[in-house]
Amino acid sequence: MARPLETLGKMLDLETRDYSCQDRAVAGGLAGYAGTWRRQAAEMFGEDARSWIESVVGQMKAYSASSVVSRQEMAETLREMLRAGPSGTVVSPATESPAVVAAEVPATAAAEAVAEGTRVVEPPAASTNEPTAEPQQVPAEAWTTAQAEAELPVAEPAETPDRSGRGLGAPVTLISGIGEKRGALLANLGITTIENFVTHMPRRYEDYSQLKTIDRLVYGERVSVLATVWEAAGRTTHTHKYLFRAILSDTTGTMEVTWFGPQGRGMVKRLQPGAQVLVSGKVGEYLGRLTMTSPECETVGRSDVTNARIQPVYPLTEGLTQRWLRSTMRRALSAWADRVPDALPDDIRSRYGLLSLSRALWGIHLPDSQDHLAASRRRLAFEQTLYLQLGLVRQKRLRKSQTGRQIAADAARTAALTAALPYELTGAQQRSLAELMGDLAKGEPMSRLLQGDVGSGKTVIAALLMTLVADQGCQAAMMAPTEILAEQHFKGLAALFESFPEPRPTVGLLTGSTSAADRDAIVQGLADGSLRIAVGTHALIQEAVVFKDLALVVIDEQHRFGVDQRRALRDKGHNPHLLVMTATPIPRSLELTVWGHMDVSILDEMPPGRQPIRTRVLHPRERGRAYTFIQSQVAKGRQAFIIYPLVEASDKIDARAAVDEAERLQRDVFPKLRVGLLHGRVRPDEKDAVMGKFSAGEMDVLVATSVVEVGIDIPNATVILIDGADRFGLAQLHQFRGRVGRGSHQSYCLLLAESASATAVERLQALESTNDGFVLAEKDLEMRGPGEFLGTQQSGFPELPMAAFADTRLLHEVRELAEELLEVDPDLTRGAYRALRAEVDSFWQDAGDLS
Ligand code: ADP
Ligand code: MG
Repeated sequence: MARPLETLGKMLDLETRDYSCQDRAVAGGLAGYAGTWRRQAAEMFGEDARSWIESVVGQMKAYSASSVVSRQEMAETLREMLRAGPSGTVVSPATESPAVVAAEVPATAAAEAVAEGTRVVEPPAASTNEPTAEPQQVPAEAWTTAQAEAELPVAEPAETPDRSGRGLGAPVTLISGIGEKRGALLANLGITTIENFVTHMPRRYEDYSQLKTIDRLVYGERVSVLATVWEAAGRTTHTHKYLFRAILSDTTGTMEVTWFGPQGRGMVKRLQPGAQVLVSGKVGEYLGRLTMTSPECETVGRSDVTNARIQPVYPLTEGLTQRWLRSTMRRALSAWADRVPDALPDDIRSRYGLLSLSRALWGIHLPDSQDHLAASRRRLAFEQTLYLQLGLVRQKRLRKSQTGRQIAADAARTAALTAALPYELTGAQQRSLAELMGDLAKGEPMSRLLQGDVGSGKTVIAALLMTLVADQGCQAAMMAPTEILAEQHFKGLAALFESFPEPRPTVGLLTGSTSAADRDAIVQGLADGSLRIAVGTHALIQEAVVFKDLALVVIDEQHRFGVDQRRALRDKGHNPHLLVMTATPIPRSLELTVWGHMDVSILDEMPPGRQPIRTRVLHPRERGRAYTFIQSQVAKGRQAFIIYPLVEASDKIDARAAVDEAERLQRDVFPKLRVGLLHGRVRPDEKDAVMGKFSAGEMDVLVATSVVEVGIDIPNATVILIDGADRFGLAQLHQFRGRVGRGSHQSYCLLLAESASATAVERLQALESTNDGFVLAEKDLEMRGPGEFLGTQQSGFPELPMAAFADTRLLHEVRELAEELLEVDPDLTRGAYRALRAEVDSFWQDAGDLS
């Protein structure tokens, strides 16, 4: 008998513990597994639990669609939902089945998902349609509805744009030179159709025109060298390591190259004396001579060098070679490149100086020059970005065409409310409040994101807005991802409202743990309108909760909710205003992609009087100092977090399991202190208990993986030590850091690097120099690319739109174009734009499913 709660719980544990939230604990990801889970849960809990089941399913899909950064917290939310159970009562695993079989889960889960057919890519039947045929027309109406329903904050380009009607969807084995065997190998790379094949992007390029000769090498440079193997041999060193050493020569000199271990063994066959090889790596030095250690190495034929100066280097799978893929690509492009219909109309192409699709495909795979390559990338990036922006702008236009309740606040009342606050609003808060009030007065439904670092004071803005709504006799609801947060908000709001001049809004708290009697009263109050403001968790979106007149929906920590959940709450009103809040800073340049359908306000100023957190990057050998420092803080009555972020639990990476670590710390380092432990496998109720104890000061040091909640207020905690900090993005480290510095005492953040490398330390030093999350997000974007902030599930033309997202100018250009096009032709039904619309449609279609 299936045990959906337990299975999903285990999967989440695996996900967070062993798979670093890569969505790999189950084949097909959580989204792929959602269907199976829904069926099993429905069997077990019956029809009554439908809305709960759907909200869990929504969260599973949202998990897969989200960026890795948000997933840890989304997993927490899921656990909360599981714990809350269908009726809002706590479901213990025993209700499902007494037997707990831990080892069986991953295999079962994967097998189930496979049985369900998730991720099985079905090659569309070979189609012989004229490649130049009119693209399939989608009725205007269909498009509009799909867009209206899709609220898509994170754009996920469609996995396989549906071009099957044009022959590109045909099996890859139609390409000459690809038979059953190679076809199967290509399938390992996710390539099953001709389109997949011609859009299989090179990982990088080898530029033979930029090669260096051995006599021109400079220490420390990254270079590629084309040379002949002079001699090559492997041996075992006195430290029992395998070492493979080769002497390479070109006409200008010789150079020694070495590889170790399995990598070295792999070279034995490839590096026969006489072979011509291309090695790429960093030039090092040994005993005064220039060398390379573990460079990338490829054997090359003469034709590679003479035929084309820039060669693509593809991601490969066992059994396929670069050379084969390159020559097959050439054949495939000769046959197909011209037959791929170009969706971009000529006028747009000439206005922006874009290559034709065919020329761009050639340029991506077999560029004539660096310029050709750059222009090809730009063309493909432009196209993808345009589809994205057309969808976003379309959605924004649609919302603005709807009517929303007009709420004009009386200036005197607003002044009286702000005067009643125990502090003055910061400039940023005043500005954001004005923007929000402006939205409410417009008569169209507001949709605004309020972005601000932890502690920037978002809650009070929401509180004021909700009060203004309540003043008009309407209702407002605020949803938070966890019970702890919802309770914290409720207490804060109740106290605040108490201090407000009449009329004071009424507020109720609704979570999974609300007692039946309280719950009935709140549900009744919301239904008859006597209760104006509801604060709560997912419990708010249960079917039984009905509002008399819901005019404003506030979502706190929005990234922890799925689109479906946010929509479910909005659906409880008629076009209510929407305010979403987040403390996860997104670089400004990415706003147009992630928040392109919303308006954005930013709190970029901290309330005065906060002592900035002091941050120090520590060398691995300074661990002892960190512990001593923690001890001294505890001696002053303060508390400390020690975070062990398990990013990638592989045996290669020596992640200290938090469990062992907590034991070790208690035993050897802090024998006199009270050390607590929190990690992904701790049951949610235990977790609340641990947090409760820590919060009450009954614990000195809390050892935790990255599960410690964002937004939790523990003013007495003044130190956070992050062990292995170099494995994280700056933005994420900044989030961890926000867990201290909430009280009046000076707080500290210690970043213990695991690697002593200069670059690792240098990167972390950015955190020493600023406490501004936005600045750090920009730095992350610069250093690690947009993948940190966007979903990582993209395929199709993956690197290209990603690259485009980092190109702010292109983004703005395309945004303006999208606005202009839709202004002139709102449904893209005119002539040449029809093909464009079909592409936009398919681009957003899969994304719609993901949401
Ligand atoms: P967040 O943006 O992280 O949700 P909160 O809304 O929880 O931040 O605010 C953090 C703390 O700052 C709260 O205790 C709040 O009362 C306080 N606060 C908010 N605005 C101001 C202000 N303008 N001046 C002083 N304190 C403020
Ligand atoms: Mg908050």
